[in-house]
Amino acid sequence: MARYIFITGGVVSSLGKGLAAASLGALLQARGYTVRLRKLDPYLNIDPGTMSPYQHGEVYVTDDGAETDLDLGHYERFTGRPAVREDNITTGRIYQDIIAKERRGDYLGATVQVIPHVTNAIKDFVLSGNDGVDFVLVEIGGTVGDIEGLPFFEAIRQLGNDLPRGHALFIHLTLLPYIPSAGELKTKPTQHSVKELRSIGIQPHILLCRTDREIPREERRKLGLFCNVRESAVIEARDVASIYDAPRAYHATGLDQEVLSAFGIEPAPKPDMGRWNAVMERIRNPEGEVTIAIVGKYTGLKDAYKSLIEALAHGGIANRVRVRIDWIESEIFEGCDPASHLEHVHGILVPGGFGQRGAEGKILAARFARERRVPYFGICFGMQMAVIEAMRSLGGVPEANSTEFGPTREPVVGLMTEWMRENELQIRAAEGDLGGTMRLGAYRALLSPGSKIAGIYGATEISERHRHRYEVNAAYRDRLLDKGLVFAGFSPDGLLPETIELEDHPWFIGVQFHPELKSRPFEPHPLFASFIAAALEQSRLV
Ligand code: GLN
Repeated sequence: MARYIFITGGVVSSLGKGLAAASLGALLQARGYTVRLRKLDPYLNIDPGTMSPYQHGEVYVTDDGAETDLDLGHYERFTGRPAVREDNITTGRIYQDIIAKERRGDYLGATVQVIPHVTNAIKDFVLSGNDGVDFVLVEIGGTVGDIEGLPFFEAIRQLGNDLPRGHALFIHLTLLPYIPSAGELKTKPTQHSVKELRSIGIQPHILLCRTDREIPREERRKLGLFCNVRESAVIEARDVASIYDAPRAYHATGLDQEVLSAFGIEPAPKPDMGRWNAVMERIRNPEGEVTIAIVGKYTGLKDAYKSLIEALAHGGIANRVRVRIDWIESEIFEGCDPASHLEHVHGILVPGGFGQRGAEGKILAARFARERRVPYFGICFGMQMAVIEAMRSLGGVPEANSTEFGPTREPVVGLMTEWMRENELQIRAAEGDLGGTMRLGAYRALLSPGSKIAGIYGATEISERHRHRYEVNAAYRDRLLDKGLVFAGFSPDGLLPETIELEDHPWFIGVQFHPELKSRPFEPHPLFASFIAAALEQSRLV
């Protein structure tokens, strides 16, 4: 039977609960165990799909088409295990199910209440589908004390008793702030956070203490005493320069050892850290550096591009170079010559995006890359903008545009209302709901033999994750015949363009999908590895 590890947070948000969970998952894997990571999100949205990237950061899409929390991206990158829809749940989804059941009459006669109905639904979710898994790591979003988190904390408290003895472990992540005027790391916020947790019936077994310096023995002792944990279970979680060093750092402080001994697993199987040592050896010893411009719209919040930043770093790992990112708000190009911002970069990436704001700037960035022969990677929206640019400049369609921005005479990019998912027709109404209705998840695409992209993948059939509502209109394809822009990849039914490439260009590729979602540090995605290799070539020219 699976063992359960519940990871909660306190004091402040953004301490890296997701990374801590992902790192612990990786460490248990390194000791030969199978793991599954899941996230409970207390907000009321059904999923983060309709939230602004400014609110929530990136929406991470799974193979099975769920729009989920970005922590699932960490889980996947650290463990290599593809996340699935059922790895993430929100209060909204729990209530949606309960209310549907209530209307159906499933609870006939009963008053439907938070305890036990909501808590039971949460417990059923946590316990479901874990056959064959040694450790299930469950991260609870938000921090202890949040009103909306209470049913989740209550549910995991109950699970502590429902599960057989020795099958549940509670880990609490907190912050030890350093106060310069006192010259001390302060333990009081952690003490209060644990007190809050204990007041709702949860006694943590292990404390992860985020700190920018070593925790002195005395503070460690104090934390153990006041928070009622063993001194060896006060784990120092020091800042690390690269997130990929977190598993090794946690291992060095004894986290995985402490977890296994708390479960009574002794002696613990020896860990094999080879994969992480190899990744860190490359990150620590780059042989060069390239600069990539990300021309986007949410550049103020880097979390909006989490997987993209990581996939670029993985491309760097594959080529033994450090990847520096120049963040450029695309709107600034609407009124200035892009050259002044792009002349020095070695590659230009236009990522996924939504809406008209900044679109013309992205089109100008694509033009600059095409004309100046700078490596260009257009992802989803970035491919759509590159096609509009080519239609306007090369295809003789000066009014080329996307219907995403309003009615247009030349809908080179248009709304999709019907498409195939394997053998099943998907239909959407133009005025339908926005939540969960895009073309989402893994779809196969066929690449033309001999195309550049087929060469990069070393395959002519691929499967990648999608998240889009608009699509390049294949009817315009002929306008670009003999103009050098090739539609190299299509959906299996031949209707939806999936990739484009410029023939006479060092590296100009657009993809309708999101390859960044499947890249891993120890398995960099071929497109990112190839793009960074091209940028490295470019860096030798400029
Ligand atoms: N807004 C575009 C669409 O819906 C692109 C989406 C994206 O880049 N993920 O098709």
